Amino acid sequence: WEYVKQTDPEIYEALVGELNRQRNNLELIASENFASLAVIQAMGSVLTNKYAEGYPGRRYYGGCEWVDKVEEIAQERAKALFKVKYANVQPHSGSQANMAAYLAVAEPGDVLMGMSLSHGGHLTHGASVNFSGKLFKVVQYGVDPKTELIDYDAVRRLALEYKPKIIVAGGSAYPRIIDFKRFREIADEVGAYLIVDMAHFAGLVAAGLYPNPAEYAHIVTSTTHKTLRGPRAGLILTNDPEIYKNINKTVFPGIQGGPLMHVIAAKAVCFKEAMKPEFAEYQRQVVKNAKVLAQKLSELGLRIVSGGTDTHLMLVDLTPINVTGKAAEKALEKCGITVNKNTIPNETRPPFIASGIRIGTPAVTTRGMKEEQMEEIATLIHRVLTNVLDEEGNVPENVQQEVISRVKELCNQFPLYPQI
Ligand code: PLP
Repeated sequence: WEYVKQTDPEIYEALVGELNRQRNNLELIASENFASLAVIQAMGSVLTNKYAEGYPGRRYYGGCEWVDKVEEIAQERAKALFKVKYANVQPHSGSQANMAAYLAVAEPGDVLMGMSLSHGGHLTHGASVNFSGKLFKVVQYGVDPKTELIDYDAVRRLALEYKPKIIVAGGSAYPRIIDFKRFREIADEVGAYLIVDMAHFAGLVAAGLYPNPAEYAHIVTSTTHKTLRGPRAGLILTNDPEIYKNINKTVFPGIQGGPLMHVIAAKAVCFKEAMKPEFAEYQRQVVKNAKVLAQKLSELGLRIVSGGTDTHLMLVDLTPINVTGKAAEKALEKCGITVNKNTIPNETRPPFIASGIRIGTPAVTTRGMKEEQMEEIATLIHRVLTNVLDEEGNVPENVQQEVISRVKELCNQFPLYPQI
């Protein structure tokens, strides 16, 4: 970052500060990961200079010879990785991928059915504060209050009653495998399009550890920066040529201008990495780590929503220990452990306070941590959560110092970006 340092010392300071934060804390936010330096280099490249409105071979700008290659390579790899016929690699983010997917098959005012935020869905699945809730008439489904698993019978009942144009499956805080076949049957019964948002578990799908939604969905959307470990961006896949045409038109000129070619190059690098056997091995470890972490937390007396996890994430219900999600997040952060507060099924608190935390293993697994470290991390989390003194997340000084020093040791044992 020599050039940044010379030109802009304030931003340089923030870059160094953030690198050190990432290095010296245990990153357990389920939607975050550490991209490879190859991904990061592609993103920080001269491709950021290039305008390339349109698609490869059909651009509105000259000089697109090399960016056409980049986009074609990204498309080919995405198709091979997820075993689909068509890929649009231009969405700037997961939210834009979802917006394009919805508007490719539905009109504003149509009915959209998605999982509610508090049951594990994403904002773009119909939350009232989001474009999805403003553009569409929304019907929300959720999980069964007892099992905390998606209640497919209730999904079907709602679909039959409201006849949605779109059913969205997938979420941000649902730790279990989703039955896409069942969703497609329901969609077919009511004549809806099934859109699966695999943003969270895309890496697991790539590694064959989670069912491939492309086998059942009309459209699959994703981010590329979570378990997939690529750049911060979006992706849309389909097997249907007509839907693909609509997706392309909706992404550009519908909702976006020039594609971010540097980010598309980084997506291509990420897809290449995701085809390697080491990546599948990494994903297996992500899931093993999540299972061990959930098991150990539960042995220590914390309640895991739905009793465990099949994926990279788990939700911890803090109501039995009488701590709010907000206080827990703050307390853990003071001790060098980063998580996010999260609403839980049948939430009674506002989302900004929440009754749970979401924990994920993708980032710590990228650092090389395994089952043994997960057991220790569970013990550290439990130690902090059972010592929260107030809503500000204060914990006794001795607890804080003890946990911080153990976190430091773990971070030193598994260095992040040692090459930088
Ligand atoms: N879809 C799901 C399931 C997500 O979890 C997220 C992000 O958290 C998104 C979409 C939105 O992605 P982005 O933040 O890139 O807009």
